[in-house]
Amino acid sequence: MIFLKTEDEIELLRQSNLLVGKTLAEVAKLIKPGVTTGELDKVAEEFIRDNGAVPTFKGFPNQYGDPFPCSLCTSVNEQVVHGIPGKDVVLKDGDIISIDCGVYMNGFCGDSAYTFCVGEVKEDVLNLLKVTKEALYLGIQNAIQGKRLGDIGYAIQQHCKSHSYGILREFVGHGIGKDMHEDPQVPNYGKRGTGMLLKKGLCIAIEPMITQGDRRIVMERDGWTVRTRDRKFAAHFEHTVAVNTGKADILSSFEFIEAVLGDKSV
Ligand code: MG
Ligand code: MG
Repeated sequence: MIFLKTEDEIELLRQSNLLVGKTLAEVAKLIKPGVTTGELDKVAEEFIRDNGAVPTFKGFPNQYGDPFPCSLCTSVNEQVVHGIPGKDVVLKDGDIISIDCGVYMNGFCGDSAYTFCVGEVKEDVLNLLKVTKEALYLGIQNAIQGKRLGDIGYAIQQHCKSHSYGILREFVGHGIGKDMHEDPQVPNYGKRGTGMLLKKGLCIAIEPMITQGDRRIVMERDGWTVRTRDRKFAAHFEHTVAVNTGKADILSSFEFIEAVLGDKSV
């Protein structure tokens, strides 16, 4: 079932998504070698609750019905998505970490992710991050009334393919609103001019999950963490957007994050 959002609902979605951007910026201030992902999660949860919202990931069930234990998904290096923060997971120089954050506030969800560098990262890894972020924005350029869902995936796929990167098939973007995951699914691959017609008011999370090597993945024994099979690095950037006429309306924001990162922005 597709729910098109009214302008008022889109404003509420924007508020939730701006809080996600601000939360990720609070976390960005702390990312450096030696910090644990458990510490990042603690700061994020406090910030979300202090702002009158609830972390949506905490308690979210996986396919076995086990609740996710934390407020952030922190996926380091070969981990692609859904990594679990922990006091034993210490970041080190040269790592990359994808941080995905979701909040629920005033009845609407926010969902956005950014991949950060820890200290000095190798040039080829930095390129993976740049291309993944570019692919996200190329996808967003197609989130306009009159285009089709396949146009978004096609744009992301073409860009990543031109760099010989892998694109996850098992995990995709999604509709978003009162629920974190609504219809439709938003794949990061597709054929031009195919799939659902995009209409103004459709709100979706676009989130390319891109690998440096093979696109095949495995699930870790914790039942959550998804990592690349070949253990090559992966990147993940996500924005929540509202389909509009002429230009997509990006409801989440990397501005707060990049104000913290300065010239270390991807
Ligand atoms: Mg997310
Ligand atoms: Mg999402």
